[in-house]
Amino acid sequence: MSLAARLGRPDLADLPAPDLAGAPVPGTIRLDANENPFEPLGGGTGINRYPEPQPATLRARLAALYGCDPTSLWVTRGSDDAIDLLCRAFLRPGEDKILVVEPTFSAYAQFARIQGASVETVRMGENFLFDEAATLAAAREAAPKLLFLCTPNNPTGTPVAPDVVKRIAAALPETLVVADEAYGEFADQESLAPEAGEIPNLVVLRTLSKAYGLAGARIGCAIASPDIVTWIAKVSPPYPLPLPSIEAALSTLAPERMPLHAGRIARLIADRARLSERLAAVDEIRSLRQGGNFLFLDVADPATLARRLAAAGVKVRFRPSAAPGAVRITVGTEAENDAVLAVFGIAPERPAPRRAALTRDTKETRIALEIDLDTPGAPRRIDTGIGFYDHMLDQVAAHGGFGLTLSCEGDTDIDAHHTIEDVALALGSALDKALGDRRGIGRFGFALPMDETSADVRIDLSGRPYSRFEGDFAAPSVGGFPTEMTAHVFRSLADSMRAAIHVRVEGENDHHKVEACFKAFGRALRQGLATGAGAGIPSTKGSL
Ligand SMILES: *Cc1c(COP(=O)(O)O)cnc(C)c1O
Repeated sequence: MSLAARLGRPDLADLPAPDLAGAPVPGTIRLDANENPFEPLGGGTGINRYPEPQPATLRARLAALYGCDPTSLWVTRGSDDAIDLLCRAFLRPGEDKILVVEPTFSAYAQFARIQGASVETVRMGENFLFDEAATLAAAREAAPKLLFLCTPNNPTGTPVAPDVVKRIAAALPETLVVADEAYGEFADQESLAPEAGEIPNLVVLRTLSKAYGLAGARIGCAIASPDIVTWIAKVSPPYPLPLPSIEAALSTLAPERMPLHAGRIARLIADRARLSERLAAVDEIRSLRQGGNFLFLDVADPATLARRLAAAGVKVRFRPSAAPGAVRITVGTEAENDAVLAVFGIAPERPAPRRAALTRDTKETRIALEIDLDTPGAPRRIDTGIGFYDHMLDQVAAHGGFGLTLSCEGDTDIDAHHTIEDVALALGSALDKALGDRRGIGRFGFALPMDETSADVRIDLSGRPYSRFEGDFAAPSVGGFPTEMTAHVFRSLADSMRAAIHVRVEGENDHHKVEACFKAFGRALRQGLATGAGAGIPSTKGSL
């Protein structure tokens, strides 16, 4: 008898798992599901049809993301749903138990109780560190069907090391050990997801809610051996995942968007550290730890703090079951974090940086980019698929003094043209967006000679597009970049960032000449973007 059959509810043994026939072949006349044949009137192409029970493309994408086999992964409505499915598949009402390590995420106990099972608890150790021996002792005593280990733990931020999880799973072969890695992306430890398929009694939970910004779409998954996955499938409803959520997940996880996710996760971790550091000096905070995308504090007077937070319009989670003054605070945007600091009487270090993120999809190119005009040392990661162009854009960002994460999946197999033009348009739009109402900027910029080549770039971030380019190139291309596209790039930038850009270039070597244009443009941009020109909008008209 398989482990799933031994641990699963015996009354489900002959209940079939859903049929995963996959999406119908295009052109099939679909008269099998009593759907409405007409296109929906409220928008949302295709939502007149039922979604796939387990959308194959999303299942494969998540499996690739988490490093496991698709047959080891079951897509759920958020990982909350995965917890519920585990409880329903494995817990016999009135007979079985789960074990949780308190303080932890409340959904484990909630879903177990809804299922009619009982909940045993063991406390975390000193300083909320995971206590392996105590947990094992409690598990031996209670013999739970499911043991939930949240790593890193919500709300304390403390991790359970992957080796410890594996040791516990090995020591408790008749218990399903569930490692909830909802905050795994924010932890500096390896995920157990790639191994979950091979360890018979290990289940790993992942979600797109926390690190990938899709809490509202409700997409998560359970990763386990195909044996366990089949048992989970038995209790899964027929069409659990709404089509718009499936599509949101697939487009969020498009390859060109992954560098932006990595950048945002890194930023949340850095902001978490910065918040911790600044709050560490606050007297009323008795202890402070960080993990996931949140801070966990113990404050002297939670009632007063609650009033101050409410007055500032800030909502956080008080967790008195963890400690009398326990508060969990999510890391937000810079402005939101500043609001939290202000409640503790700490002034912001500097104004929130000017940033913009955008995605731009056409049939020819798919672009994702994020710029940060003000954070010192903001990273530059540029991948357009055209090495020389990457180098040029890196020059613009480096000399312009701004951070740029940019990737493009373009039809460069046909020609570089679409990629070069669309990336320039997207970069210009992002600069325009980040500049907002252009208050306080230098507005104008000038840059002049470089080596034997002289590139003269003058810009005016005027709010009006205009471009002029003087110069010619002898070679048709340099490093796979068509030289004729140089003028085109500056015209696209002028259009989308609403600026006047005048470029004049002379010299002998075409590589130098192209590069000098981009470098000089970066330098000119640095002056134009710079703040400190006063608080006003730098125009006598009062708007740009
Ligand atoms: C937020 C959270 C979840 C639930 O995530 P969803 O995928 O949105 O349902 C699961 N586990 C823990 C520990 C969480 O904090």
